[in-house]
Amino acid sequence: KFITFEGTDGAGKTTILNMVLEYLKDTMGDQLVTSREPGGNPIAESIREVILDRQNIEMDKRTEALLYAAARRQNIEQTVKPAIAANKLVICDRYLDSSIAYQGGGRQIGEKEIYEMNQFATEGFLPDLTIYFNLPVEEGLKRIAQNRNENDIDRLDVETIDFHNRVYDAYQRLAKQQPERIKSVDATQSIDAVYQNVLEILQPYLEE
Ligand code: C5P
Ligand code: MG
Repeated sequence: KFITFEGTDGAGKTTILNMVLEYLKDTMGDQLVTSREPGGNPIAESIREVILDRQNIEMDKRTEALLYAAARRQNIEQTVKPAIAANKLVICDRYLDSSIAYQGGGRQIGEKEIYEMNQFATEGFLPDLTIYFNLPVEEGLKRIAQNRNENDIDRLDVETIDFHNRVYDAYQRLAKQQPERIKSVDATQSIDAVYQNVLEILQPYLEE
């Protein structure tokens, strides 16, 4: 099974992911594989550095979209598919929906354009389940401002509120269009409540 975590900046997706991994680690051992986007293997991590390096913030938006797709391709082929073939559970921090939301919505390349360009990269390979951390933009910005640390690569300081609103709106559309795959979690709740919700959603996928 292939499961992805999605959401806007500050929604708590990485925090909850780490709690879930801690919980599953003991029972699942090497049956559990985790990954992140962009990244997940040496080639994709190198692409990550190119994309997220602050000095490259002026990168052309289509170049950026192609690099995300290239990293995604490498991660699928090298990490995700082999693990799934071995009957493992793969949980990935971000996937295709992030590109549709950030590059398609946020950067205004167009959600359809990004989806189609990614068809080449993914050959239609989609997660069995996507957990979407739904948090209004204002709340996300507030949280990041409170927890800012120097190593954060979040782009909250360089992107406009309009950018974040477009990302959020694109996520909302995706969740509405694909309710079978994308399960929304109310990320305004306490960390513990969000964590419990996520475990409930995950449960059926752990038993199979
Ligand atoms: O997952 P994480 O929050 O660590 O992502 C790091 C940064 O990369 C975020 O600030 C996010 O805005 C950005 N990003 C992006 N396009 C993607 C995935 C992530 O702009 N497809
Ligand atoms: Mg983050």
